[in-house]
Amino acid sequence: MQNATSAAQKAMDLENKYGAHNYHPLPVVLERGEGVFVWDVDGKKYYDFLSAYSAVNQGHCHPKIVQAMNEQSQKLTLTSRAFYNDKLGPYEAYLSSYFKFDKALPMNTGAEAVETALKICRKWAYEHKNIPEGQAQIIVCRNNFHGRTTTIISFSNDATAQDNFGPYTPGFIMVDYDDLAALENALKNNKHVAGFLVEPIQGEAGVYVPASDYLSRAAELCHAHGVLLIADEVQTGIARTGRLLATCGSCSCAQKDCSGTPEVKPDILILGKAISGGAYPVSVVLANDHIMNVITPGTHGSTFGGNPVAAAVAMAALEVVKNERLANNAEELGHLFRGLLNDYIKTSNIVALVRGKGLLNAIVINDSEDGDTAWNICLRLRDNGLLAKPTHGNIIRFAPPLVMTKDQLEECVGIITRTLTEFE
Ligand SMILES: *Cc1c(COP(=O)(O)O)cnc(C)c1O
Repeated sequence: MQNATSAAQKAMDLENKYGAHNYHPLPVVLERGEGVFVWDVDGKKYYDFLSAYSAVNQGHCHPKIVQAMNEQSQKLTLTSRAFYNDKLGPYEAYLSSYFKFDKALPMNTGAEAVETALKICRKWAYEHKNIPEGQAQIIVCRNNFHGRTTTIISFSNDATAQDNFGPYTPGFIMVDYDDLAALENALKNNKHVAGFLVEPIQGEAGVYVPASDYLSRAAELCHAHGVLLIADEVQTGIARTGRLLATCGSCSCAQKDCSGTPEVKPDILILGKAISGGAYPVSVVLANDHIMNVITPGTHGSTFGGNPVAAAVAMAALEVVKNERLANNAEELGHLFRGLLNDYIKTSNIVALVRGKGLLNAIVINDSEDGDTAWNICLRLRDNGLLAKPTHGNIIRFAPPLVMTKDQLEECVGIITRTLTEFE
């Protein structure tokens, strides 16, 4: 950071010296957050346009979520699952009625929940489809992002994520995203397919929104072939895309009291990130009984999964989503955001396009994929009071907390377009 004060520089130096270099952070050192804002160690205020990769949908330090965490953490924090606790049952019942699945399996991080879903899918296939031992295959999509464990990076095609971490876990078939013919071929040409794992929008890849009928038709294909549809909504879930879930399609079931049915009902739903509003690592896998019942005592677990603090925090965070109608707000502000950006793009040489759904959006910069224009724009956005990060090379993702107001969004678009103008 060129003009870094000594406090900021010191914090960055410590991370560089004593931390593994597994990230390349934008040079800004944050110490406080509230709602849509964060403040750095020198008191400078920023709009947060990343929301910790869509974990902080409810805004930083939401008072109801913080209160739930404080109260529960003074009472009981962890029992392990060796014993029952008084929060887990109510939490699972809450999840079941909120997302309309029979059962939940609580974990902590998104990657763990993906691993859990893969295990459930494989076990279901062996026990219900008579697939010979060790032969189950799961179809995944090119340019996927599902986390960082050894099995998950085994089916990544991102060399940075994968290289030198082998040997890789077998049992995955890769098809192009948003390509129903490729999915159908893979289903037809492989005997032992157990499931299809898909992101409703590919977030990390650069916010790729598939054709509007992609998921519903993929679901039909899966069901026709007796294969489980596994939706990874770790990033798209919990109101981010203008619906409670991106698989909700046109159903507005995130509205208070809505009893609409989702457009696409995955067999296994994976949630993480915003299920806690960013206050605590919470993830969950949801499925109906005929699938979830393959999990029996000893077959899966986690010391912290479903702990009382996680349960209390997640219930509060999900209440906030409904009470503050965050899905509706994301939907409305998303249209406004893309509309204003599209007006700007008409006369822009530096921005090729804006795309997204709800408040999960990205702009593509007219630069090569290994160019540094997007990074430099993000540095200038920071100087101008707004924090965003390039995802892949020349793509900048814009994902503010969903508690933003219309006035704030318009102010932010002003900051973004003024900054872009400096690069035209
Ligand atoms: C972030 C993310 C994950 C991994 O979540 P972690 O909590 O970082 O392990 C998995 N899937 C998707 C779609 C994600 O965006």
